[in-house]
Amino acid sequence: MTTVTPPPAGTAHAGWGDPARRTGLPAHARSWLQREVGLGDPSRPVPLGDVRLPPAALPAAVRAGLVALLGPDGVLDDAAERVRHAAGSSYLDLLRLRAGAPGEAPDAVLLPADPAQVAAVLALCSRSGVAVVPWGGGTSVVGGVRPQRGACTAVVTLDLRRLDRLLHVDPVSRTAVFGAGVRAPEAEALLAPHGLSLGHLPQSYERVTLGGCAATRSAGQASTGHGRFDEMVLGLVMQTPAGELRLGRGLPSAAGPSLLGLAVGSEGAYGVITEVTVRVRPLPEVERYEGLSFRTWPEGLAALRALEQDGVAPDVVRLSDPDETRVQLALAGTGGLSGRAGRALLAARGHGAGCLAVVGWSGTAAAVAGRRRAARDVLRRHGAMRLGTGVGQKWAHGRFSAPYLRDDLLDAGVLVETLETAAPWSRLEQVREAVRDALADALRATPPTVMCHVSHLYPHAASLYVTVLARQGGDPVAQWQRAKRAASDAIVGSGATITHHHAVGADHRDHLPAEVGTLGVEVLAAVKAVLDPAGVLNPGTLVP
Ligand SMILES: Cc1cc2nc3c(=O)[nH]c(=O)nc-3n(C[C@H](O)[C@H](O)[C@H](O)COP(=O)(O)OP(=O)(O)OC[C@H]3O[C@@H](n4cnc5c(N)ncnc54)[C@H](O)[C@@H]3O)c2cc1C
Repeated sequence: MTTVTPPPAGTAHAGWGDPARRTGLPAHARSWLQREVGLGDPSRPVPLGDVRLPPAALPAAVRAGLVALLGPDGVLDDAAERVRHAAGSSYLDLLRLRAGAPGEAPDAVLLPADPAQVAAVLALCSRSGVAVVPWGGGTSVVGGVRPQRGACTAVVTLDLRRLDRLLHVDPVSRTAVFGAGVRAPEAEALLAPHGLSLGHLPQSYERVTLGGCAATRSAGQASTGHGRFDEMVLGLVMQTPAGELRLGRGLPSAAGPSLLGLAVGSEGAYGVITEVTVRVRPLPEVERYEGLSFRTWPEGLAALRALEQDGVAPDVVRLSDPDETRVQLALAGTGGLSGRAGRALLAARGHGAGCLAVVGWSGTAAAVAGRRRAARDVLRRHGAMRLGTGVGQKWAHGRFSAPYLRDDLLDAGVLVETLETAAPWSRLEQVREAVRDALADALRATPPTVMCHVSHLYPHAASLYVTVLARQGGDPVAQWQRAKRAASDAIVGSGATITHHHAVGADHRDHLPAEVGTLGVEVLAAVKAVLDPAGVLNPGTLVP
């Protein structure tokens, strides 16, 4: 009698975060999308049993060696785990996963419990020619966790979820040491009893790990005030095939070039970060968010630049261009600003085709009050209309909900993806226009809506975050690959950075020479040759 193994339960892609928070596309949003860009063929992730997985290729002796190091529950090679770790979270990753055709999948998923186990895995894999892909929250949108084996015989994904402890807190110096697998919400929960907070809030907050944020130089919604993650990291411990690196002692130092700076942003290509020392702050007494409107985009940009250059920028600053403002109002439903009275108010004040902004502060009540007053003077001088804290609180309430909406848009056959860059203030508008034109041209068969906001300010520059909506074409993968290539070429061609915070991964690697020059790429490759002589770490990511 033949025994039939039942297919694994579940779907090829479970969707973002907590399923209970998924609300589906409201009817008004669906009909607006139908009018705006059109809806493609509806789709759903295929059942897990239908996913086409390459056969697991881990040699038996290597598997046995890994089980001896990590125990049987530290080496997972069932279909569900292999599929779950087969791709990150970009639009292309989700398309491939949902269709059940991820292309690559790890031959096994490893769960080391401590830095010594990470070091031992790296030694074994280096000896055996097995590629190792470090995995934090799997939220990379640039192909950073796609399991590529390169010249190796097999590939394993090293999921760091068991390095989940707060290791040390120094409340006097306001620093904390975390295991690299601690997720951002858990970091806040672990710090709260000490009266402390990290305050790193990327939109992917619910899933990111501190190791992943350090490895990608991520930026959060409050990075204008609190600093990017690379500014929060004071030190780290990294296991490499060549040995352990302990970098940065949290001390201001002039001891040669910053090696910490080489490890931060190394995207798993140089080693596996196992501990991160970060700067922390007291839990805020108050958080205040408020909405603003500007008559025009240039007026809004001038206000943001003045806030930053005058040294009074809020912690959170986010200015939407006219298209993003229009889309926000359309999707918000019928109440508040998007209702008849709200729109009449905006129109009466000359803001009918204007730009919405959100600003936010956190800290002690006295500091927030003082900083708000200082910012308000600058904003008033630049024509900002205050819309009140209700608008700001609504933004804060929904600040992590966009990834859920993305799953609903994919179900409805909509292309939805984001990209980002940064440019000097003097060329910001030129870059925005170049990217918009490139996307509009590349997607002309399915005319897109391209919207943008500025959300990270520096005295000399600012970031641009672009969201694209379009009807999915017949070959949605090729459709987006074409558009992404055009947008990346436009970014680099206009002198902006290929990435302000999403990192390089596999997707931006070809544009790295434009960023650091060919000699710069050789320097990066030379460092890899020292730390990872067998070339097993995250092949295809960052370094050619
Ligand atoms: C919906 C959505 C919203 C996003 N919003 C933001 C945002 O607001 N700001 C932002 O900066 N990014 C954002 N991102 C991108 C992504 O969340 C960041 O790049 C994040 O820092 C990745 O963290 P992670 O723990 O998920 O890392 P992963 O995705 O697991 O890994 C990212 C890269 O780092 C490597 N890596 C992970 N952990 C380690 C480690 N311990 N040691 C060495 N290498 C490691 C991986 O190999 C990979 O190359 C968003 C992504 C999504 C899907």
